[in-house]
Amino acid sequence: MPGRGIPANTVSTVNKTTSEPYVGRFAPSPTGPLHLGSLVSALGSWADAKHHNGKWIVRIEDIDPARESPAATRQILDSLSAHHLHADNAVSYQHSHSLHYDLALNTLREQGRLFACTCTRKHLRALGGSSYPGTCREQQHPEEDKALRVRIDEETIQFTDLVCGVSCEDVSRSVGDFIVRRRGPLYAYQLAVVVDDARQQVTHVVRGADLLDNTARQIALQRLLHYPTPAYLHLPLVKDAEGRKLSKQTGAEPLDNTSALSNLRAAWGLLGQSCPPKSLNPSCEAFLTHCRVHWSRARIPTSNH
Ligand code: GLU
Ligand code: ZN
Repeated sequence: MPGRGIPANTVSTVNKTTSEPYVGRFAPSPTGPLHLGSLVSALGSWADAKHHNGKWIVRIEDIDPARESPAATRQILDSLSAHHLHADNAVSYQHSHSLHYDLALNTLREQGRLFACTCTRKHLRALGGSSYPGTCREQQHPEEDKALRVRIDEETIQFTDLVCGVSCEDVSRSVGDFIVRRRGPLYAYQLAVVVDDARQQVTHVVRGADLLDNTARQIALQRLLHYPTPAYLHLPLVKDAEGRKLSKQTGAEPLDNTSALSNLRAAWGLLGQSCPPKSLNPSCEAFLTHCRVHWSRARIPTSNH
């Protein structure tokens, strides 16, 4: 969690109005099938978009082939469609947008903000501290086959999450110059997500609270790239019996697509929303109409963030 309410020297606030057209998105990484936690994000982002007469787009974030599989992409899309969560665009795939990420890297390079880094994780860990110490900033390492970092200046980034409230973070202190292209080369999540949210004119980023502490880094990149900053809304995480966040890594059960209605009910309940009585036994479509109409940001629980 970024330091909430920390007094800021250079404070710049992000304000959003609701008069603009709404574009929301669900952006899963295809590392495994959807589970209840990912359904909460899918349904929350869908309902927030639909309640505001917005568009809801689906983007497959497949930029890390070693962790992903085409089977997972298919499973995710099948699962969304079994739950009647239909995107308003043709699904987009990050793997086919490297050109856009390269253009953004060029912009940063022209600003003199990119540098190649040869530090190993082990080396950085041995130094202690949570932020990159700037070791390679002035080294002029050739870029080839190296991680690329972006130079981050001191600046307190303040933003207001629609559920979690105000956060303040000076990225130069909390994480330091961060990686925008990994060795490989592989585009880093922070870069690709910011480029695509801008390219797809996303106005509202509604996603799991595990990503709240990535937001300041993303706003920092948006400012360097002269992109607008969308509104942010982070949804509660779903935890397992041991209190761990449900995730593919901890072996969360894949959704059973044959119980779509009860999955939707469970996800809706976890979002703090009120369900129509079970006795009505609506179709998924009727249930989703209820969701669209009755969605309330004010009901979203603020615990589990
Ligand atoms: N692809 C990311 C994930 O599955 C989510 C990205 C985002 O919503 O910003 O964790
Ligand atoms: Zn380095």
